[in-house]
Amino acid sequence: MSFSLCVFCLSFFLGVSARAQDWEKVELQSLALGENIWMLYGAGGNHVLAVNSDQALLVDSDYSEVSEKLLAIVKELVGQVPLQVVNTHWHFDHVGGNQALKKSGAVVLAHENVRKKMISGQYLAVIDHEQPPAAEEDLPDQTFTDKLEIQQGDERIQLFHVPKAHTNGDAMVYFSQANVLHTGDVMFFCGYPFIDINSGGTIDGVIDAVKVALSYCDDDTQVVGGHGPVTDKNGLEQYLGIMVDFRQAIAQAKADGQGLEEALASDVTAEVDEQWGKKMFPPAAFREMVYRSLPE
Ligand SMILES: [Zn+2]
Repeated sequence: MSFSLCVFCLSFFLGVSARAQDWEKVELQSLALGENIWMLYGAGGNHVLAVNSDQALLVDSDYSEVSEKLLAIVKELVGQVPLQVVNTHWHFDHVGGNQALKKSGAVVLAHENVRKKMISGQYLAVIDHEQPPAAEEDLPDQTFTDKLEIQQGDERIQLFHVPKAHTNGDAMVYFSQANVLHTGDVMFFCGYPFIDINSGGTIDGVIDAVKVALSYCDDDTQVVGGHGPVTDKNGLEQYLGIMVDFRQAIAQAKADGQGLEEALASDVTAEVDEQWGKKMFPPAAFREMVYRSLPE
């Protein structure tokens, strides 16, 4: 299966607002991960959709502009609208459909900082995007701080918070019976990820979060990142290695007294860049995120 760049990242490369996309052409697609669980992808962040005991749960709500398409593909697959929606974090390509899903009857769940961030409005420096404060109709209905468990028939769905990783409000979602893990944007399995420093994200948080994610995995776990193709425990371990190596290289440059400009210009991460710097975020952008998020 092939993946094009998500609209979010494409907008980053083109230097245009994500709102300037041709939404008519955006198509959502599904990939079965088991008998009653799918990955949906093609617009904003990857989704996981699961139905158990006639109750559908959807991870992330995509861009607001694709809500109709999202509801249509969910209904086509499971014959109903989701009863529950989980937001993995506050970014607009993951929460944009909240309003439409809530109107259709869903209850939206998220870490408490997602609701706080949405209420206050945000600025995404990396794509120069101003996110205005959200309306009540867009906000998560129910929040949690550390963990939340949902039992649907035989399926135990575990939501757990990983602090200061991609943002300060990240949640991962593990479907115990199906053995599927959604990591949110803590992992992009297709290139360097985005660390939203303005929202409290840090490289050390990403590394810690991936270690926690790995503790949920065995050899059969299917791992869905925020963007990019499905992977597994090996893929997650590979990603962890890259994050650790990259952090090490930039931390060394910083310890050697290199300023940001110098670290950005150096080739300390050249080996990793060769494989990981061609899609999603370019090496220099990721270097800057890592450099800025390292502890002083
Ligand atoms: Zn994100």
